[in-house]
This record gives sequence, structure tokens and C-alpha cells, in this order.
Amino acid sequence: MTPGRPVPPPLAKPITPASDAGVLAAAYGAVSSDSGLVPLTVARRAPKPDDVEIAIEFCGLCHSDVHAVRGEWGGQTYPLVPGHEIVGTVSRIGAGVTDFSVGDRVGVGCIVDSCRECDSCLDGLEQYCEKGMTGTYGATDRRNGDATTQGGYSSSIVVDRRYVVRVPESLDPAAVAPLLCAGVTTFSPLRHFDVEEGDVVGVVGLGGLGHMAVKLAKAMGAKVVVFTTSESKVPAALELGADEVVLSRDEEAMAAADRTIDLIIDTVAAPHDLNPLFRTLRVDGALFQLGLPSEAMPPVNPRALIRRRIAYAGSLIGGIAETQEMLDFCAEHGVVADIEVVSASGLNDAYDRMVAGDVKYRFVLDTSTLQAPAKEADA
Ligand code: NAP
Ligand code: ZN
Ligand code: ZN
Repeated sequence: MTPGRPVPPPLAKPITPASDAGVLAAAYGAVSSDSGLVPLTVARRAPKPDDVEIAIEFCGLCHSDVHAVRGEWGGQTYPLVPGHEIVGTVSRIGAGVTDFSVGDRVGVGCIVDSCRECDSCLDGLEQYCEKGMTGTYGATDRRNGDATTQGGYSSSIVVDRRYVVRVPESLDPAAVAPLLCAGVTTFSPLRHFDVEEGDVVGVVGLGGLGHMAVKLAKAMGAKVVVFTTSESKVPAALELGADEVVLSRDEEAMAAADRTIDLIIDTVAAPHDLNPLFRTLRVDGALFQLGLPSEAMPPVNPRALIRRRIAYAGSLIGGIAETQEMLDFCAEHGVVADIEVVSASGLNDAYDRMVAGDVKYRFVLDTSTLQAPAKEADA
């Protein structure tokens, strides 16, 4: 929110149904596609036997939150509390939980439930659940009276233990938060492609996802080439560990990169032409598109794919086991996000800056700056 803009008081009525022994959580969310983020109160359920209640410390701001809050993907329901890069400590556990204890530092990413029975779920690919994964916010919570899930711009959340991961103690909790989406979303295709020493990885778009892709690919031993539209990011990309930086709007620089890359991780949040990028790939190269622009992309030229047996793929976040694997990999290699911590009253400003590409490289909300919820629940 811009300085001087008054912060309205939290809505007195919780936006989710209250339950016995549940808590009221302070939150920030949208009440319509043009409301911006305002203070809200969320009633969290009392922990069921398999639930973990988490006191949230930090939550990353993903560009997907912006798309959702502003209704850019369509079909959005409001009120909506975004946030799926959640780090906090366990405050209560359900009677059946043995793998987490009160006080443990934990994380929650984009998934809070799935069918647990389909082939994808059984393979640890909950993000591709055949019955549809339950997203951390804006999804129908089939196991909780059809309430809409509400995310991590909030002081607490209650999540089934199967969708909670452990945050390694050696990593800074604020800088870990972005790993829960940006980290695993880039880790997953890098692993799927079996990136290893000697591979050349191209990273397109140096934002939240892109900067994680650079760090993770380097930690896997790859050579990394960043493709950016922002001349101002060239030194920063090199500082992050990129071996080379190519200005993607410079035709000569793009021509010089012809047939140099094995795998491209494309994280751009806006429509853009992929055909010049295909020309930078070697035979058997692949381009994974991770960004989901709200408007149509220019058409892909099949000739560009056919002539070098190039695969054009997509990839959605990562499964729960893979998220834990990624966190452990990051602890081993000392990888965290480069962050700018913001307070609740700075969220709207942070969104505007994200859309303008003015962030290095992830905003993280400090939830201690949220206002107190409208009233305390009976415990
Ligand atoms: P971000 O931090 O805003 O970064 C996006 C980057 O894209 C920008 O920093 C910019 O990099 C580049 N860019 C933006 N507008 C552009 C334009 N008009 N033309 C060319 N490049 C442009 O966003 P993010 O949080 O990393 O998310 C990126 C996208 O991934 C979003 O669409 C988000 O919804 C999606 N996402 C997908 C998944 C998944 O599972 N597949 C998960 C999370 C997020 P340069 O300045 O370097 O060009
Ligand atoms: Zn995300
Ligand atoms: Zn499933």
C-alpha cells in the first residue's frame, strides 16, 4: 500500500466458517479483483487428528498471487487470502500426528490436499492429482465442509501433515519461504531433465522463479545462461552466478547464442515469442515453460521444434516428497532466495513493483506486521 493510503480495519466477520477450538487468524487478502489487499480475518479449523497448526512467520509473494488476486486467470472467488510460500513453527498438532512436534520449523507450499489414491498421488506427483489437487488458496477444501482454502498472508494455517515439509534449521526462515514455490517449481524440471555437470541451462526471465533456477542449476553443476529483457539486471545476474547473460530483445546477441543450450527454463510472466529461444537450443534440447501469462502467446513454429528434435514442455510446481528433497538439497548447498522483507502495509506496493519487474528477487511478508484478528476465538 502506498504511504499515506489509510489501512482499513480488519473485517469483523471471519471470511471462513469458525469451528470449535479453531483460531481466528489475522490476514491480508482481496475482496474483489480491484480491491487490492486489505486486512481480513480468517477462522482456521481446530486441528483434526492428522492436522498440523502452524504459526506463520514468513510468506513469499509469488507472481501467481498477483494473477489470482487481480482475477487475471478468470474464475476467481473472493474474498481471497493469497500466499503459498509459507514458513512457520508448529503451534498445535492433531491426536494422530507423530512426525511433527510443537515448535518444529515447517513449510507449506502450493498444495494442501489431493485425492491420495490416483496414480499421480501414489507416485508423489500430487500436483498432477487426477481429481485435482487442493491449492493452498482459492480452492474448494473437500475435506473441510467445502470451505474455500485461504493462504499464507496470515498469522496461522492448519494443514494435513502429509502436505507439510520440514525446513532445515541451517537456513534463514525468511529466505527459505520462496523455496516452497519458486524453488520447487524450478527444481522439478531441472531434475526431470537430469541436469548435471557439463549441461548448459538457459534461464529466461530473472524474477522470483528465474533467480532460483540460476542458483539451483549452478548447484547441480550446470553452466547457466540468463536471458533477460532488462539491461539493468546484467551485473546482478552475473553476481547470482550466471556464466553468461543474453539480452533477449537484442537480435544479434540471440543469433550468437544459436545452438548453445541444452535446457531452457522459461519463467516469464507475460506473453512472449518462444521461437527465437528455440533457436538457441541444441539437438534434443528442451524448453520448459513455467510462466502462465493471462493473455495468449505468439504461436510456436513447429519447424523450429522439428529441425532439432526439440521438446516443448510445461511443468507445474513439484510434489511433496520432491519439495522436501529440494529443501534438503538447498541445505546441503547453502541455497536460499534473495529477498526483500515487506510489512503487511507494503503488500500492494510490492505487487505493483513485481509487475514492473522491480524486485531482486522475491518479496517476503513478515507476518508479525499483520494486525490482530478482529476478535479472539474461544479456545
Ligand atoms: P516475477 O518474479 O514477476 O518474474 C517474472 C520475470 O519475467 C520478470 O522478472 C522479467 O524478467 C520477465 N518478464 C516480465 N514481463 C515480461 C515481458 N513483458 N516480456 C519479457 N519478460 C518479462 O514472477 P515469478 O513469481 O517468477 O513467476 C513467473 C511466472 O511463473 C508467473 O506467470 C507465475 O504465475 C508462474 N508460476 C508458475 C508456476 C508453475 O508451477 N508452473 C509456479 C509459480 C509461478 P526479466 O526482467 O529478466 O526479463
Ligand atoms: Zn507460486
Ligand atoms: Zn490424486
